[in-house]
Amino acid sequence: MSNVSGDSSCASNVRERGRGTVVGVPKRCWCGEAIVAKNLKSESNPCRRNFRCGYATAKKLMNDDHVFKWVDEALLDEVESFSVQTVKLQMEMEIEKKMQMELEKELFERVEDAKSELKARMKVISRLLSDCLL
Ligand SMILES: [Zn+2]
Repeated sequence: MSNVSGDSSCASNVRERGRGTVVGVPKRCWCGEAIVAKNLKSESNPCRRNFRCGYATAKKLMNDDHVFKWVDEALLDEVESFSVQTVKLQMEMEIEKKMQMELEKELFERVEDAKSELKARMKVISRLLSDCLL
């Protein structure tokens, strides 16, 4: 409870946006209660599971702003954010690979340059040496 200022962005978002707008699987309600997974006994969705604030469940609250999230939607969010992350990671890896290849190419060219420069200098030195010796 001490680092509220540091890691409060998620919690405050949940609080501001309220019920039904949690992205992914909710870990904890903004009120501090743990989330429970339960079946909602409604006629339209007799078997559809949802994540619900433990407090709101215990008090049988209705139309409140405690966490409420369909399990399938939460899992879909997780899958979506995971695939977005995967695509991002793949793109980063591609860029890194490209950069590394360019770096290797540049390094190779520099080594080649240095080698030819060294050869040219050696030629000059050996000519100077032979001039001296003659
Ligand atoms: Zn709650």
